[in-house]
Amino acid sequence: SNSTFTMIKPDATNNGHTGAILDQIIKGGFKIKAMKWIQLSIEQAGKFYEVHKERPFYGELVEFMSSGPIVAAILEKENAVADFRTLIGATDPAKAEEGTIRKKFATSLGQNAVHGSDSDENAKIEGDFFFSGLERF
Ligand code: ATP
Repeated sequence: SNSTFTMIKPDATNNGHTGAILDQIIKGGFKIKAMKWIQLSIEQAGKFYEVHKERPFYGELVEFMSSGPIVAAILEKENAVADFRTLIGATDPAKAEEGTIRKKFATSLGQNAVHGSDSDENAKIEGDFFFSGLERF
């Protein structure tokens, strides 16, 4: 469909990359439909990443995602989910294409600068987790 959900993760906000990442997202053709700057509690991060509960990195991921501020946003573009994953690059920044957001701004596999929804279904679930109807247009 035409929208996806993203978070700029605490490594990137703490390293001062928020503006550059938003700039690359906008120049990549995405429109911001909703956006907020917040810090998640351990409980909120745990709930967001519940699908990864059985994975070995779950605890580390939840701790990291609640360790500092994030930017959460709903983005609109044709073919948004797939195009956004192309823009951010592979999960592991060492494997990400030159010029992608993760290649330029990520710290490591765990601290990889940005999240991007992996399906239309998850884009909706994740956007609804952060934003009420009043907070988007
Ligand atoms: P995202 O859902 O954040 O866009 P993704 O779909 O590229 O990432 P997943 O495999 O769904 O990757 O993993 C979710 C997140 O968990 C990754 O973005 C990364 O931050 C973290 N992660 C994944 N694998 C590992 C690992 N082996 N060690 C530590 N953290 C990991």
